[in-house]
Amino acid sequence: MRKKQFKAESKKLLDLMINSIYTHKEIFLRELISNASDAIDKLYFKSLTDDSVELSRNDFKINLEIDRENRIVKISDNGIGMTAEELEKNLGTIAKSDSLNFKNENEDSEHADDISVIGQFGVGFYSAFMVCDRIEVVSKAFGEDKANRWVSTGVDGYTVEECDKDGVGTEITLYIKEDTETEDYSQYLDENKVAQLVKKYSDYIRYPIEMEMSHSVPDPDNEGEYINEVNVETLNSMVPIWRKSKSEIKPEDYNEFYKSKFFDFTDPRLVIHSKTEGQATFDALMFIPENAPYDFYTKEYEKGLQLYSNGVLIMDKCPDLLPDYFSFVKGLVDSADLSLNISREMLQHDHQLKIIAKAIDKKIKNELKKMLSNDREKYEAFFKTFGLQLKYGVYANYGMEKDALKDLLLFESSNGDGYTTLKEYVGRMAESQESIYYACGESGDKIAMLPQLEAVKEKGYEVLYFTDEVDEFAISILMEYDGKHFVNISKDDLDISTDAEKEAIKNKNEESKELLDKMKEYLGDEVSAVKLSNKLGSHPVSLSTEGYVTLEMAKVLSQMPGSEGVKAQLVLEINSQHPIAEKLEKAGDEELKKYTMLLYSSARLIAGLDIDNPSEFADTLADMM
Ligand code: ADP
Repeated sequence: MRKKQFKAESKKLLDLMINSIYTHKEIFLRELISNASDAIDKLYFKSLTDDSVELSRNDFKINLEIDRENRIVKISDNGIGMTAEELEKNLGTIAKSDSLNFKNENEDSEHADDISVIGQFGVGFYSAFMVCDRIEVVSKAFGEDKANRWVSTGVDGYTVEECDKDGVGTEITLYIKEDTETEDYSQYLDENKVAQLVKKYSDYIRYPIEMEMSHSVPDPDNEGEYINEVNVETLNSMVPIWRKSKSEIKPEDYNEFYKSKFFDFTDPRLVIHSKTEGQATFDALMFIPENAPYDFYTKEYEKGLQLYSNGVLIMDKCPDLLPDYFSFVKGLVDSADLSLNISREMLQHDHQLKIIAKAIDKKIKNELKKMLSNDREKYEAFFKTFGLQLKYGVYANYGMEKDALKDLLLFESSNGDGYTTLKEYVGRMAESQESIYYACGESGDKIAMLPQLEAVKEKGYEVLYFTDEVDEFAISILMEYDGKHFVNISKDDLDISTDAEKEAIKNKNEESKELLDKMKEYLGDEVSAVKLSNKLGSHPVSLSTEGYVTLEMAKVLSQMPGSEGVKAQLVLEINSQHPIAEKLEKAGDEELKKYTMLLYSSARLIAGLDIDNPSEFADTLADMM
């Protein structure tokens, strides 16, 4: 019999496949099972209109058979089958797969050797060559009398010859490779392993996947002895929970599904189950966990949703389906609009996937808004766990999503315990109040002790407490809310005074110019100015900043490589109403120098900054006492 050659490009791909070092070789089973399922689909649809199909819905099945001794795995279906021509056409070419295009495009790149893409997304049927060195396909097409046998041992080509076969359908025999030092191919001959793979990848195939499984059971005739019992078992559950109608599903069903599928011990905080039709048709089942996964804040954490194409898993964590600010969402998407054999690279550019991702983003936002207005307590608990992500989301990508996310943010404030939204804050604003005030610090308690806070609160203004590093960055991108600008109460130009008060403090500063200049001179480059202030309540001193960079921003930036030069311009503010102001006026030069050092160091400590020389500070303090 003459051997036929694969098309040139197929040969190349096949070669890659056979020599694949890829670790996900196990996906071959998923590929073959989904082909079988497709073939059954075809015959089943035919049966709806064609009486000559003798099978009915419940007759269709996929059968797995393992012959450990001869290293054989058989996958059979009673689907539509293939004619000799179809065997040639379908199994003689691989090139229609997108994976090969990817390979060619990247030939010169550093990833030229990276065949993982092929391994992971499969090129269907051919992925079987990753685990076997010979494949036989016996197929009888619907409406034909004769069957055909297609045989290949890999790159060197294939043969097709006529043969006999009982029913319509396809039977694929895989001759599993011998184990090597690095590869355990024998695992695919282990019925438990195979059953596990079916569960993992093909649980939701709509037809039963059956296999003979042997179990060790107590021998009824001999106490204490065990015998092997062999049963035909259905390995897949067949009905995906997300395909069921919502009214059929109990909350426990969702919770159990979530816990077993996403390895959590705790019920999810929120379940989102949506069925979408229109521009894209897909089912989505998503969960917001109650707790952050242990690796959530590490580089190892991978965001993404499982991606199914018509019930068949094609990707375990598709990152393109979730924006970073929702990286905590777990779940899956099932769409018939996606092709099964799509590579990661192609997927990224897939128009349909983009539409789905957009719809999902919107869905999650809406669900969170609903939770915020319907169940405040639950939302606050959620926000404590994952709110940080949303704040980063406001800030990320130059604020592209800021408007969609701003109403999901919560902050503590001087209003009391608990959280406030920006909307609620603005709703409480006094008529005379023009800006939204905020203060930064490590914790609400620390912020509550800031000198500037007292004066702002005295005016009857509420102050938001920013305790996360990202807060001020997020707000600087937001710029305003409802037309109200954000103002850091530690900025030197904080404008909460009346015109008369402004005039008075301006005069006082002019009168004391000589003194203030001297103090500035003592402090050198440490500060950009020393000023008298009327905004410090009963506190003697405080640090404020001039310009864009605030103290908190400088703290964050100083930790980032490349931003070492970024410094906040500090202003030492002295309370003009405090007795210390008078003392300074009366002090001689030596004394003034010491006072200046003490006041500046105190102000730094209040602002949460280090002081250069703590022992000098202590010595001087003791001296003055
Ligand atoms: P894909 O499934 O993406 O089309 P494959 O290489 O897996 O790529 O299969 C190629 C073609 O071979 C299929 O499109 C189908 O027409 C045919 N085929 C594969 N397996 C079977 C089967 N079990 N029964 C009938 N046809 C099959």
